[in-house]
Amino acid sequence: MNTSEIIIAGDTAGIEWRLPVLRFKGSDPKAPKVYIQAALHANELPGTALVHFLCERLRQSESAGQIKSDIIVIPHANPIGAAQSHFGELQGRFDLGSRTNFNREFPLISVKDRDGLLEDLERRSAIDKLKRQLLHMALGCDLVIDLHCDDESLQYAYIDEAFWPEAADLASAMEMEAVLLSDGESSAFEEAVGFAWKYETPEKRSRLPGKLSVTVELRGRRDVYPEMAMKDAEGLWKFLASRGAIDAAVSLPAFDGPAVPLDNVEIVRAPEAGTVLFHHNIGEWVGEGGVLATLITRPGMADGSVEIRAPQAGLIVTRNSERLVRRRADLMKIACKTASKATRKPGTLED
Ligand SMILES: [Zn+2]
Repeated sequence: MNTSEIIIAGDTAGIEWRLPVLRFKGSDPKAPKVYIQAALHANELPGTALVHFLCERLRQSESAGQIKSDIIVIPHANPIGAAQSHFGELQGRFDLGSRTNFNREFPLISVKDRDGLLEDLERRSAIDKLKRQLLHMALGCDLVIDLHCDDESLQYAYIDEAFWPEAADLASAMEMEAVLLSDGESSAFEEAVGFAWKYETPEKRSRLPGKLSVTVELRGRRDVYPEMAMKDAEGLWKFLASRGAIDAAVSLPAFDGPAVPLDNVEIVRAPEAGTVLFHHNIGEWVGEGGVLATLITRPGMADGSVEIRAPQAGLIVTRNSERLVRRRADLMKIACKTASKATRKPGTLED
């Protein structure tokens, strides 16, 4: 394992950020090149924990001469965000300076223009320097895995339909409980990578065999435990072996969880502000009209609560960890069989 650092000059005098980059050298130039990053949303640590144990496993593979692919690992992709606490609380998702989501506004370019990402870098803001260097590394690879997590959540992934069903091997290896099939229409990291590949030629390609760019949601923000991280690391290692990045025989069972388009995800929102009392947890199947939560809007009053019901039957994939919620707060994501009647903009489910 080779270690280096990318140094990013800060936007004010006397500041610089250091981004550790870990590399494994592969023995087979034809094997798919791999890029794995964690904690682009700086407060999402399950991926960092996974990567810690994955690197240990990869060092063993390296000692055994089993590494076939060049593999790049970024254990914590966002040192800028990791330093942005506000009154003692790490923000993590949005850059306090620019108010943009750390996982949006990645440049949408063709992979042919990859080297342009690093032109005039010194004139860009620190956060743009970071985003461009991450994307530049990823676009030199074939399998790109961006490790995130949700609030309270099952293990699931956002996978562009261009990679499905080939990517069912990743879902199987990681024992995912659901897959949400996305349309690739956003500036999130994973989708900027897919965009660059699709537009390698002027005519957009809709299938990308041998490639994968994926956002894995490693359960909830608090799901950071040694056994969990070791199991996830083993799952990802098996996926890498199954794709020929590591010289080891593995067999993966077929993925049998639900894989639904984003249009089939019901985002349950709070109709008013209040105290939320959930009736169901993540991982439970609910029927159409089933009570998901009681929302106490006027505590103590005879008519001071409302019931929130499931718009259609489905699997509860995520849940809000807050108990005092604002009007329109996202309470749950439910994966369903048919499209939601709620209108949805193209792109990601959340800002
Ligand atoms: Zn995230």
